[in-house]
Amino acid sequence: MAHILVLGGGFGGLAAAHELRRHLPPSDDVTVVAMSDKFFVGFAKLWDVAGLRPLLDGTRPLERLGRRGIRFVQAEVTHIDPVAHKVETTAGTLSGDGIIVALGATYQPAHSALLGQDAYNLYHAEALPGIRAALDELTEGRLVVTILGAPYLCPPAPFEATLLLEERLRKEGRRDHVDVVVSTPAPLTLPVAGVDASRYLADRMLERGITIHTESKVDTINHESNTIRFTNGETIDWQLLLAVPAAAPPAVVANSSLAGPSGWIEPNRHTFATNADRVYAVGDCTMIATATAQLPKAGVFAEAAGKIAATNLAADLYGGDHITFDGYGFCFLELPGKQVATVTGDFYAQPRPAVRLTPPDEASFRAKLQWEQERLTGWLG
Ligand SMILES: Cc1cc2nc3c(=O)[nH]c(=O)nc-3n(C[C@H](O)[C@H](O)[C@H](O)COP(=O)(O)OP(=O)(O)OC[C@H]3O[C@@H](n4cnc5c(N)ncnc54)[C@H](O)[C@@H]3O)c2cc1C
Repeated sequence: MAHILVLGGGFGGLAAAHELRRHLPPSDDVTVVAMSDKFFVGFAKLWDVAGLRPLLDGTRPLERLGRRGIRFVQAEVTHIDPVAHKVETTAGTLSGDGIIVALGATYQPAHSALLGQDAYNLYHAEALPGIRAALDELTEGRLVVTILGAPYLCPPAPFEATLLLEERLRKEGRRDHVDVVVSTPAPLTLPVAGVDASRYLADRMLERGITIHTESKVDTINHESNTIRFTNGETIDWQLLLAVPAAAPPAVVANSSLAGPSGWIEPNRHTFATNADRVYAVGDCTMIATATAQLPKAGVFAEAAGKIAATNLAADLYGGDHITFDGYGFCFLELPGKQVATVTGDFYAQPRPAVRLTPPDEASFRAKLQWEQERLTGWLG
């Protein structure tokens, strides 16, 4: 009887655990260990702040994994021993015959330290009540959405947030008195999607009167004067600041022997195998090089990798075919008015990712909603 440990209960971990359950005999155990006892998709946070749907409506408890023959342990993983297939957790030591690491990403500490007092982490679920209250009170001044560094999760999300919030202010009759600004240290809005998609996205913002600052790296945030100074010398003031910190590997990952020089796990980009036997790593806790940068940190890719890693780990244990990831995937790009475009293609293509933007429509918005519901119900229904 084999026992597989899946570390993390997000996109990568849930996809992997269900795929393992499909491949392994019922007598084998699959255990998911996660700090959080809930799952929701990232964009549900944006719908919450944009006043479109409360986060709770898109949240499911991980304890429901038990209905599918998957054990759930809510605990923090504090040490990973990949050779012995053993992990230390706040609920005790767990050991198994194989491990899939899907612990996601945390935020760069230096960026988190810049926040506080009307300057919130747009991506952090725990910041949502503060953001909601601050948005309700925002009647004049400037709303600034700022990307603090790269890589960050889901490249289009800060721009989607800007557009959805601009729409909310407009609908609520506050837009005439509130300036909306977005900033990024990158030269384009969406470098991973290329010049044309970046131009398209920038045009959608400009036509709504949103000011875009590219090549604007935040130097300091002053909470006395409510100003941001960029390294290019420019300064802007804000009434409400929503920031997106760069992603960082969780300490337990960076401190493990699985981590590469970057602190992230750098598994084989086709099989997701790590440097240890029967240990795979998927999703945001990994760094996967592409021709021009890195595979985006997105649920779509974490899920695809989770399924492939699970299939390969089952094949390690029982034989059968190992499978590989070809680099194909997509990112949603949501625009106001229930319109969704997608950036789709081969992210592993040479000499640069071969991706294209499909025009936005309402059918793709419905497809996005269905995509979320299939995961909530399929994994935790
Ligand atoms: C606002 C926003 C919008 C987004 N929109 C999209 C989108 O439209 N499409 C898309 O594909 N992606 C989107 N994303 C990105 C997506 O949410 C992430 O890329 C995805 O969640 C990564 O999956 P993961 O399994 O690697 O990590 P996560 O989903 O973050 O899961 C990590 C898991 O590990 C657990 N964990 C972490 N550390 C420990 C520890 N030490 N011990 C125990 N457990 C631990 C956590 O509790 C969690 O269960 C968005 C993200 C945000 C923030």
